[in-house]
Amino acid sequence: MTTLFRHLPAVDQCLAALAADTGRLDKALRPVLHPVLHSVPRPLVKDLVNEFLNLVREEIRAGAFADEAQLSLAALYPRMLAYVRQGAKPRFRRVLNATGVVVHTNMGRSLLAPEAVAAVSEAAAHYSNLEFDLATGERGSRYAHVEALLCRLTGAEAGLVVNNNAAAVLIVLDTLCQGREVIVSRGQLVEIGGSFRIPEVMAKSGAILREVGATNRTHLRDYEQAITLETAAFMKVHTSNFRQVGFVKEVPLCELKTLAATFGLPVIEDLGSGSLLRFDADGLPGEPTAAESIAEGADVVTFSGDKVLGGPQAGIIVGRREIIERIKKNPLNRALRIDKMTLAALEATLRLYLDPELARGRVPTLCMMTRTLTSLRAQAARLAGLLKKRLPWCLDGRLEVSVRRGVSRVGGGAFPEADLPTALVALNPREGAPMNVDGLRQALLATDPPLVARVEDGALCLDPRTLDSSEHTLVLDALRQALGES
Ligand SMILES: *Cc1c(COP(=O)(O)O)cnc(C)c1O
Repeated sequence: MTTLFRHLPAVDQCLAALAADTGRLDKALRPVLHPVLHSVPRPLVKDLVNEFLNLVREEIRAGAFADEAQLSLAALYPRMLAYVRQGAKPRFRRVLNATGVVVHTNMGRSLLAPEAVAAVSEAAAHYSNLEFDLATGERGSRYAHVEALLCRLTGAEAGLVVNNNAAAVLIVLDTLCQGREVIVSRGQLVEIGGSFRIPEVMAKSGAILREVGATNRTHLRDYEQAITLETAAFMKVHTSNFRQVGFVKEVPLCELKTLAATFGLPVIEDLGSGSLLRFDADGLPGEPTAAESIAEGADVVTFSGDKVLGGPQAGIIVGRREIIERIKKNPLNRALRIDKMTLAALEATLRLYLDPELARGRVPTLCMMTRTLTSLRAQAARLAGLLKKRLPWCLDGRLEVSVRRGVSRVGGGAFPEADLPTALVALNPREGAPMNVDGLRQALLATDPPLVARVEDGALCLDPRTLDSSEHTLVLDALRQALGES
């Protein structure tokens, strides 16, 4: 056994072989372009080769090799190449979202419209007028690029944008309420997910939280009785990810505004997902729009750029000019400021909203939210047909493919109760198949690109709502890889 170790190729030999390898044919005789060393940093390749050789040493110790020929560079090369290619992939990468959750917080929330993607690429690759006023040739403001659009779309007097909505809430409270009290209904002190709790962010801002009402019911008199000389504002939080039903009461914004006005207090509303359009006609009622919030009298409104809006991660703040100007001057603004690529994507997305039909046609989040059941059924049938025809496991009956009814979700805390009817492609490994449903789900997480799907009623379910039809062949490919038929 000890002599076997000596026959292992040297690291440098391995690296030279990889460097010389500019392309091969895979089993199906397709060219595989993998000049491994051309785009991957050499130290990374070297580490991976070392790791691979250590793995082989373990195998020698375990008695996996009978003779030295199996340890030649030529013999080990295909496995080594696969190991290096796998390990050299960036950690952060594309996945196929077959979960049917449109604004999936763990998978990047919203996809950008093509116009926004183009704007990001332009801003990233070139110098821009980010903070340069082309009319005067002097320093300009980065917020100017989207402020007019935000005002037009929400009816607000002024607006600015920060890094995300949590930052928006933080800076609004820091500006208006630091060291003073902000009155909030107890029923609105929600946890959004990823351990983001509204009361904790509020506390970080230095505002003192005055909770009023009971968990299920808050009355106007609760707000009124809580007002003291220390009161700086009223705040309303949209309880994004849950709904209270039964014996519940929240004070409507317009009533809160009337009370606030008599005491000269501002009303802040955190809308969370913050839509710019209504989706009642699409079977998605209930989420207030930013324009409605402004019209009902909110002095400042905050919402996310990448939830239902379907743009980049951003925290949008709109409201009364005097308040927005104070927020712009807050030193925290520098720490929370939005970057140029985000700004480019946001402007491109907001422009689409100037024509709501254009936005509905171009913003992927809106397209996916509003897909009709008829089109989803057609997509499911197409995908199921492709798998049945092209997956050997289906052809020989080891995997059953069917289309069934199901439910998708908007996600991102928006429309929490809405069941979006969909058609699912259900995959069922038959009795005796080498892999069960959970094994298949797991194996699909390791494919290239990984495919994320859910198990429901004993089947692996693919929801076409969150898959573009151009991704169907990638789904087929992922299943081939997972089932060991690549
Ligand atoms: C999602 C959400 C936030 C946080 O927004 P991010 O853009 O994730 O920072 C804040 N408030 C509410 C009500 C939310 O739904």
